[in-house]
Amino acid sequence: MSKRKLTKRQRLRIQKNQQDLAIRAIDQSANDKLSEENANFGELGPEQLGLVIAHYGAQVDVESLDKSSPPGITRRCHLRANLGVLATGDKVIWRDGEPSGLVVSVLPRKTALCRPDPYGDLKVIAANVDRMLIVIAPVPEPHNRLIDSYIVAAEAATIEPVLVLNKSDLLNDTNETQLQALLAMYRSIGYLTLEVSALLADGLSPLAKVLGEGTGVFVGQSGVGKSSLVNALIPTANTTVGSLSVGDNKGAHTTTTARFFHLANDGSLIDSPGIRELGLWHLDEQTLLNGFVELRPFIGHCKFRDCRHLQEPECQIRRAFDDGHISPARMQSFEYLRNSIRDGKTNKIGG
Ligand code: GDP
Repeated sequence: MSKRKLTKRQRLRIQKNQQDLAIRAIDQSANDKLSEENANFGELGPEQLGLVIAHYGAQVDVESLDKSSPPGITRRCHLRANLGVLATGDKVIWRDGEPSGLVVSVLPRKTALCRPDPYGDLKVIAANVDRMLIVIAPVPEPHNRLIDSYIVAAEAATIEPVLVLNKSDLLNDTNETQLQALLAMYRSIGYLTLEVSALLADGLSPLAKVLGEGTGVFVGQSGVGKSSLVNALIPTANTTVGSLSVGDNKGAHTTTTARFFHLANDGSLIDSPGIRELGLWHLDEQTLLNGFVELRPFIGHCKFRDCRHLQEPECQIRRAFDDGHISPARMQSFEYLRNSIRDGKTNKIGG
């Protein structure tokens, strides 16, 4: 059969018919989805902006960010299929409903704090964090490489690290000079430092002010006073952490989910045992090097492109150290962490 040549108008009409069919198919599939969702979850309200304030695997608690909703309205929500894994701190589009709502989509994350799950897969444990408050104290004594591992983790996630010396009430003639020198060293490379006492409620206003600019997380060695600081800032935190019912009507289930807390004035905190004990995970050597801010100007200038910054000639990283651009303690941390990455041991740091 000979092929009939179509006029331009006929070609355009066919094209338009095909487009209409495609659009109808998409609409039909969207309608099917909505009917299915309405059947599963009851009548759902219009789409609105929300914030994930706690996360329980298949479900999340969402707080409405809709200006027309009363502040602080929260709802347990299911997730629309194929949404991926959500994290506390995620901004979402959701639809309110009774007894549960539905998260429809997730907005792109500014930052993501990750750690591996028991199967070794990376899991986001908090989203959109602005500041990592690294807590140290006179007791237990701080370890430089632990502080530096937190700083590297923060830098890798583009989160601002802030060093917080808690238990300032325990400063004395024996420990003060050394701790002040430690703080001064971090200030000299551009990091903010604070001194507080959760016990005496001392220095909490400057801390709240720093937290007032966005969302923070507390990390640090066990026993430095992270929980005490969270409770000093948010007196109600203690009553909610670790005792939430998972909403499957099978009884309360204790969970260690990361919780989102609003501070009394501005700012917020995401807190969980998992975040507080965050270690240095899954980083490669380049990310590690970038995490040492004072070394950044020297990166990429070594004689050999694959320089390992050990004993190679004309290594600019070693030269930076020889010229005093990085303190011996920080260089030691860098070398320790690099060797740990090479030995595949970084997941042991800070855990
Ligand atoms: P976390 O493991 O980092 O969460 O530390 P905790 O908040 O559980 O505190 C560990 C211990 O340090 C507890 O006995 C607290 O009472 C104590 N502590 C916390 N903050 C202060 C402080 O500012 N000064 C003193 N002296 N002790 C504190």
